[in-house]
Amino acid sequence: MGKGGSASQAAPTNGQPHLDTGKPKQRGQLANTIPQASDEITKRSVRESIPEHCFKRSYFLSLSHLVWDLAVVVVSAYMVLYAVDVLPSAATPFAWLFYWWYQGLTCTGLWVLAHECGHGGFTDSRLVNDTVGFFLHSSLLTPYFSWAITHAKHHHYTNHMTMGETWVPSTADPNKKSVKFAKSSLGTCQRVLSVFLVGWYMYLFVNATGARQNRGQSHFNPGAKALFKKKDANYVRASTVGMLIVAAGIGCCIRAFGFGPVWRLYFVPQMIANFYLCMITFMQHTHADVPHFNDEQWTWLRGAISTIDRSMGSFADMKTHYITSSHVAHHLFSDMPFYGAEEATPYIKAHLGKYYKAHMSEPVLGSTYLGYLKDFYTGMKGAVSIGPDPTGSDEFMWFR
Ligand SMILES: [Zn+2]
Repeated sequence: MGKGGSASQAAPTNGQPHLDTGKPKQRGQLANTIPQASDEITKRSVRESIPEHCFKRSYFLSLSHLVWDLAVVVVSAYMVLYAVDVLPSAATPFAWLFYWWYQGLTCTGLWVLAHECGHGGFTDSRLVNDTVGFFLHSSLLTPYFSWAITHAKHHHYTNHMTMGETWVPSTADPNKKSVKFAKSSLGTCQRVLSVFLVGWYMYLFVNATGARQNRGQSHFNPGAKALFKKKDANYVRASTVGMLIVAAGIGCCIRAFGFGPVWRLYFVPQMIANFYLCMITFMQHTHADVPHFNDEQWTWLRGAISTIDRSMGSFADMKTHYITSSHVAHHLFSDMPFYGAEEATPYIKAHLGKYYKAHMSEPVLGSTYLGYLKDFYTGMKGAVSIGPDPTGSDEFMWFR
């Protein structure tokens, strides 16, 4: 656990949360859920509120989800090839579109399982976790150990303004021309498109969206001091080798089958999965009404429970192993298996009370999934630059 195990290190006001009053009225309900100084809520108290079996990792359950997802990948690829063979040519673009959407979700689910391996939440065996995680992440062109190391930092310093690892907001003057453009519809569309096309690799190669002083550091450089310790060097090299082996395999497939089939069957779903990763990380930790914290205000628990549970709709939540809808649980107990986090969430919600954060999207055309995508656009548009509250009612960093 990081600095401070209780909800806050700031001094309480007569035992009462000191931010319950004085919040500017234009902020939404989530702004009133910032964890305050309290001894009532600690990591231990939350843990004690959850049934013990939620923490248990099951080989059978974890490996069945893995085998199922892998089988779905193969069957989906086979089915789309069969469909384009038998369908009239006018219908084939729709078959591909459906395949990309569905396989993108399946690949994200597999990626989430590898993420769980990196946390030690997949099984009790580190060997099994690292073998499965290395295979899955390398196959999806993610450097397994390197990313697991920096992801642990994201968990350790959630919503920390200088130590945070992903989607650390800018502190640029909101009146600056570039910030105004970033908040315009055109600027937002450009940023969403760049997240879709290159966001994941920009993060891996130059730590884009990381804390300002760590930008430019690469997940592929064992000497990147802001990301890795000396003892990590061989893990970083092994991760890069894993990716290079897969890249060579992809090269062989292109040589054998041509670029088109490999692009359609592998690259497009993989790119969609990368987009989900970036979007999910943004959405679970960014909301116009949720602040970030400077070092003096930040505590591990305050950062962890600034996480926001959301939903992509029941189907996409199930496909992605409930990473969006049980993210608060995941940040509190990152080595809990995903099926435990999902079951633990109502207990965490009850125990945290007002400090539990969730934002459920308004459906668009009856679809929560589309509502989630719309909220991503709205979030990207509204949550650009951050700064102290102009009324001086607290010392947190708010979107403005
Ligand atoms: Zn995680």
